Amino acid sequence: MPRVRRLLKELTNAHGPTGFEGPVRAIMRRELSPLVSDMKTDGVGSLIAHLVGSAESPRVMLSAHMDELGMLVKYITPEGFVKFQTLGGWLDQGIINQRYVILTRKGTVQGVTGLKTPHVMSAEDRAKAMKRDHMFIDVGATSSDDAKGRLGIRPGDPIAPDSTFVQLNGGKLYMGKAFDDRVGLAAMIEVIRSLNERRPPNSTFAVATVQEEIGLRGAQTSSYQVRPDIGINLEAGVAADYPGISSDEAQERLGDGPGIFLHDASMLPNLKLRDFVVEVAQARGIPVQFEVLSGYGEDGAEVQRSHEGVPSINITVPVRYLHNHNGVMNREDFNGAVELVSEVIRRMDAKTVADLRSFD
Ligand SMILES: [Zn+2]
Repeated sequence: MPRVRRLLKELTNAHGPTGFEGPVRAIMRRELSPLVSDMKTDGVGSLIAHLVGSAESPRVMLSAHMDELGMLVKYITPEGFVKFQTLGGWLDQGIINQRYVILTRKGTVQGVTGLKTPHVMSAEDRAKAMKRDHMFIDVGATSSDDAKGRLGIRPGDPIAPDSTFVQLNGGKLYMGKAFDDRVGLAAMIEVIRSLNERRPPNSTFAVATVQEEIGLRGAQTSSYQVRPDIGINLEAGVAADYPGISSDEAQERLGDGPGIFLHDASMLPNLKLRDFVVEVAQARGIPVQFEVLSGYGEDGAEVQRSHEGVPSINITVPVRYLHNHNGVMNREDFNGAVELVSEVIRRMDAKTVADLRSFD
């Protein structure tokens, strides 16, 4: 399997629910370590890799988050069913009747969020969506003692969606879980690989953050450690090119290139930086698209308001069906994002960044 597809497969298949990003961090460490001069972590687990360019400054922070939507074990019923606390923005109907893995001290435990059969439901009940408070994970245990003893499940154990990566029917589309934001991490690795071959006139920090899905926490701590002059966040964009979703809700389409956020609930990009990115895209013949969302939230917002303020932008690879067990992305959009971000960083010398940071 070619390198990038293999990387996306490994990153998306890895289990890293919010707060439990260890398996993803291990992949990031392995991939980035041959490409950068040093790596460290912040106090909550974000990985900060430093690529030394031909100049020590300006400092460019490239970020993407390692965590995916998940859960943790709340308690086990006397009958051996697992009740859970959700982590991140789940939809109730996205949780139910799906496969999960619980990461225990004894290894991986498989289970399913059981859903009552329609055979026994009234017409009224069939029309209702089940609420998460009534859900549980069936791990095949015979009792609470069996779940704790034989399977090793303890309160606080992380739970991740169980869904595997596939190339969708041989085409350019890939299907899998956690493209939000493993697609950003894979792009970050490829950008650093490209920058390692042709060094930029700056210091670039590739930061794989933790705990984005519950409030951008790792981006806050890591941006304080990095002290960037410019922030570029890589995220999964909201594709709106399938039945039942409208351009009023989101505007990105698979295959139309990387996206640039112009508004989301967490931040506005720096417009000079937007124009700079668009100019680079045009010069390189890379198609780009724009996204204006009323909701959402991303790590760029924390980078932007760290220290005395940092011109920042959020660049995306569009993904369908985010925050569910299966998303769909287009490989061409990924390639465009890697090339665009690599070229943008390669042009970020002291003069360019001083101009981007000037409000005169
Ligand atoms: Zn995300």
